[in-house]
Amino acid sequence: MDTENFQPDQFKALFAHANEGILVTQDTGEILLVNPAAAAMFGYGPQELVGQMVDVLIPESLRRGHVRHRENFRQNPHARSMGLGLELRGCRKDGSEFPVEVSLSPYQEGEGVFIIAFIIDVTIRQRLTAQREEMAVELEREKEISTLKTHFVSIASHEFRTPLSTILSSAALIGNYAERGDTASIKRHAERIKNSVQNLNTILGEFLSLGRIEDGKVEPRFEAVNLPELIHEVEEDMRAILKKGQTISYQHGGDDEAMLDKNLLRNVVINLLSNASKYSPEGAPVEVVCNVQNGRTELIVKDKGIGISEQDQQKLFSRFFRATNAGNVSGTGLGLYIVRRYVEMMGGSVQCQSQVGEGSEFRVEF
Ligand code: ADP
Repeated sequence: MDTENFQPDQFKALFAHANEGILVTQDTGEILLVNPAAAAMFGYGPQELVGQMVDVLIPESLRRGHVRHRENFRQNPHARSMGLGLELRGCRKDGSEFPVEVSLSPYQEGEGVFIIAFIIDVTIRQRLTAQREEMAVELEREKEISTLKTHFVSIASHEFRTPLSTILSSAALIGNYAERGDTASIKRHAERIKNSVQNLNTILGEFLSLGRIEDGKVEPRFEAVNLPELIHEVEEDMRAILKKGQTISYQHGGDDEAMLDKNLLRNVVINLLSNASKYSPEGAPVEVVCNVQNGRTELIVKDKGIGISEQDQQKLFSRFFRATNAGNVSGTGLGLYIVRRYVEMMGGSVQCQSQVGEGSEFRVEF
């Protein structure tokens, strides 16, 4: 329909029955016309707003900014449409606030400049958007849990099979050797069983830690930790799992104590040391260097193992990641993820420098 042919009554009807709020103001901000939708939206009687400044429709806290905006707009009147990403708020007569979207169009008539504002209450739209965003986050989380489960099943079936079959065959062999009284072989197989159980225990421990981290159940508890003491303890525990001829050397500089979480730190050291041993050949040395100075703590674990390519180093600290050269070495790809998360929980960071075939260096800083 051509608006040229509109009758005044039709314009009135358009104004009176529109669902959108419509205001006509002078460029000074004084309200001249208010349609029923706008009056109702802001909780005023049909004519109550006429003659008032448009500022009354804006929350008190934003009013000063609005006056400035209005002045700018007055100097440079231009049409501004809806949906420009401007988050605006309206203020009802009772003082309550609600989100609005506003379009402005200036027009000139005679000497005067007037502004028409179209206003929509976007409360429901915003609520729906927020709900949609919440659902998307929830969906993402569900997807992640499902991926984790899939990973768990595939890793569990892969990584559990080797130690379990070792345990089974060693137990059967121990039966045979016992009949023959071959105690040396019995001891050897008992040792294999012990190692396999330890292996399974580590994998289960990692899954448990992962679960606790993802559920937000790990809360660091800071205390003065004696680092030489802690590292010597770990070193002793590790001795049983080192490969033939591997050694751990330890150098300490600065203060002995640092404010950290003892359990989390122990886990970090165990993970880094067991990797250093796992990914190094027999007889290779592992170095630990620690320095506590002026409130900064540095812990370095260095090995002369297989190393990690530059490309793999980018993803090293993500969940389930295993480097391309990890080969048959057993593992879940969770250790370094747990290390990073624990270190970050204690306010630190961890980095890796490595070269394939040369070795790796993990540096933790708090
Ligand atoms: P995994 O259980 O596989 O050892 P981690 O998260 O501890 O898992 O380590 C991730 C991957 O990083 C390992 O699979 C391995 O490929 C590589 N990696 C970690 N530490 C070392 C190291 N000291 N030397 C060489 N490669 C390493």
